[in-house]
Amino acid sequence: MNRVYNFSAGPAVLPEDVLLEAQEEMMDYRGCGMSVMEMSHRSSMFQEIIDTAEADLRNLMGIPDNYKVLFLQGGTALHFATIPMNLMKNGVADYIVTGSWAKKAYVEAQKYGQANKIASSEDETFTYIPDCSDLPITENADYVYICENNTIYGTTYHTLPNTKGKDLVSDMSSCFLSRPVDVEKYALILAGAQKNIGPAGVQIIIVREDLLRDDVPDYVPTMLNLKVQADNGSMYNTPPCWGIYICGKAFRWIRDIGGLDAMAKRNEDKAAVLYDYLDKSTMFKGTVRKEDRSLMNIPFVIGDKDMEAKFVSEAKAAGMENLKGHRTVGGMRASIYNAMPKEGVETLVGFMEEFEKKNG
Ligand SMILES: *Cc1c(COP(=O)(O)O)cnc(C)c1O
Repeated sequence: MNRVYNFSAGPAVLPEDVLLEAQEEMMDYRGCGMSVMEMSHRSSMFQEIIDTAEADLRNLMGIPDNYKVLFLQGGTALHFATIPMNLMKNGVADYIVTGSWAKKAYVEAQKYGQANKIASSEDETFTYIPDCSDLPITENADYVYICENNTIYGTTYHTLPNTKGKDLVSDMSSCFLSRPVDVEKYALILAGAQKNIGPAGVQIIIVREDLLRDDVPDYVPTMLNLKVQADNGSMYNTPPCWGIYICGKAFRWIRDIGGLDAMAKRNEDKAAVLYDYLDKSTMFKGTVRKEDRSLMNIPFVIGDKDMEAKFVSEAKAAGMENLKGHRTVGGMRASIYNAMPKEGVETLVGFMEEFEKKNG
């Protein structure tokens, strides 16, 4: 077996313990004679899997009882529509546009109501988070929307926006469970599993109960009606059973290393290894304003396309995969999610040092 250090932005690296456990249970899940993939979602066996996953997630994040936890399908991009469909009571929402995903969410929301762009960092290629301390929040806005960690550009909110009392909705796809969060500060949290938690195909939505309503517009597909999904325990139809099972294992893995405080500490230590090097290197440069740096996605450049291509291909040959930057930023990007070990980042930095010596 030859595992590489996988710096993919998503789908991405998973904890080896999780993969090994799933492998062990593949043919015969705990004596039931079948894999979780083959199991009825209505079986008591699967009910226990989803209930345990939910309970573990509630414990990890400290999710209050007046929030529902949903395990859905569709991709985060689908739920860019679900959110305005369910949450726009007045038909108005404010969006802070800090990257491609936030922008897509903003454009999608315009189909269902009035979406206002109240701040943006597009003027500088999304390399920073705008000052959100005193934004022109719309009087009758139903919510304020953010993308909390910008996967492509490598920025993150270290302080949440001042929403002036409005409900906050956050796309946490690429920072979910990377650090503690105060769930009560949010009305709705959206996260796709394939960045930091599990396989593609699971969407986690944590939503405050009072936002679920019977009077969503008639055009809203039943599957995208959050109240229907909540009333049916995420099983209005067949849920992404296998993915939920793997997410459940990732929740346990985080619990076993000490929960979200310990996870955050690990992520901070890990990111510091790469940021410290970027700050002193003369060849490699980070692309993001320092105070807005992400712990999860770290873009960097050399500024010479041929040299960057050489770096990516030599890194690959040395067992470090998926370091090519997103096409809109260029250069390189190292995604160092929860499951990336510190040794992975140290190996990368060691390789960068060597590369700089040889080619600098
Ligand atoms: C990847 C990503 C998305 C899109 O997720 P899909 O599951 O591909 O729809 C949305 N938001 C953020 C922050 C992401 O990182």
